[in-house]
Amino acid sequence: MHLVTLTPGDGIGPEITRAVVDIFAAAQAPIQWEEHNAGITTLESQGELIPQGLYDSLERTRVGLKGPITTPVGKGFKSINITLRQKYDLYQNVRPAQSTEGINTPFKGIDLVLFRENTEGLYAGLEIFDERLGIADTLSRLTVEGCHKIARAAFKYATEHGRKHVTLAHKGNIMKNAGRLMIEACKDAAAEYPEVTFYDERIIDNMCMQLVSKPQQFDVIVTTNLFGDILSDLCAGLVGGLGVVAGANIGDNMAIFEAVHGSAPDIAGQGKANPTALLRSGLMMLEYLGETESAARIEKALSATLTHQGQCTGDLGGPASTAQFTQFIIDKL
Ligand code: NAD
Repeated sequence: MHLVTLTPGDGIGPEITRAVVDIFAAAQAPIQWEEHNAGITTLESQGELIPQGLYDSLERTRVGLKGPITTPVGKGFKSINITLRQKYDLYQNVRPAQSTEGINTPFKGIDLVLFRENTEGLYAGLEIFDERLGIADTLSRLTVEGCHKIARAAFKYATEHGRKHVTLAHKGNIMKNAGRLMIEACKDAAAEYPEVTFYDERIIDNMCMQLVSKPQQFDVIVTTNLFGDILSDLCAGLVGGLGVVAGANIGDNMAIFEAVHGSAPDIAGQGKANPTALLRSGLMMLEYLGETESAARIEKALSATLTHQGQCTGDLGGPASTAQFTQFIIDKL
């Protein structure tokens, strides 16, 4: 049994978390959950956005599965997601995007993995607002160490998974220093991992155009925080939408798995959310824990469900509710 911290989050979080817990139970996955929530719900119930119990649990289990948490726009508290990523130095945000049989999309044959630097860049939290002058500054901070860590992680992953091609997406023509640090870090990593035989670079604007024109040309993509945040939603759109893409925040001694999507307030509480993205994040977690057999079993039941549109949720053009979709997977298990 592996002890895992479960954070349901808010919005659609509790609905999709329930689905994953039920599917894991049906599959007899060797996971014991320790539930600790965070966000506006715990602020109301316990007086804290991130209760100490969540920190204590994560420090004990070192592995978390997390639902999405709402962050106020343009005001209010700092993102809880970013707080956790920075506190525990979860510097890799790993977001695979693959075509799935049965999910109708304009492109076929996409199989790429995005490595987003997860603690620095424009998300470093260095913000100043001078009300008198009417100036808002948001500072992007990259460190040599941070760039090397994410570059190495991407090349290491590529090597371990038999992937031969890594692409860096940057904006070094305008943000010259930040771009140079990432380029140097990737060139160093390319020399360190010669089994990756093809390394190339794209300026971020061109990268977006290439991704929506010929996404099959990409294999592993590595980039900075903001670009990675945007590119991963773009990649989600290429393979079926936010309801199906998984993610992982990984550090050297802790990992928190969560979907790419947010709390989807527009559909929260309606039983419509697609739990696939969080379920796939859970499968990444099982693999991380070495439970590959359990992961493969659930993956098989999920794939068999996704091939029938009549069993899918509304975002994939199907009629099923979250609970019905979950039950289809459980029936196959
Ligand atoms: P969102 O990802 O929540 O939703 C974007 C669109 O995708 C919506 O139309 C939504 O209905 C749809 N969608 C998302 N997940 C879905 C699913 N599983 N099934 C079906 N449809 C799904 O993005 P947003 O609306 O821009 O953000 C809402 C909130 O989520 C914000 O407060 C934001 O800060 C937060 N957020 C949190 C995380 C996180 O916790 N890691 C990530 C992104 C956004």
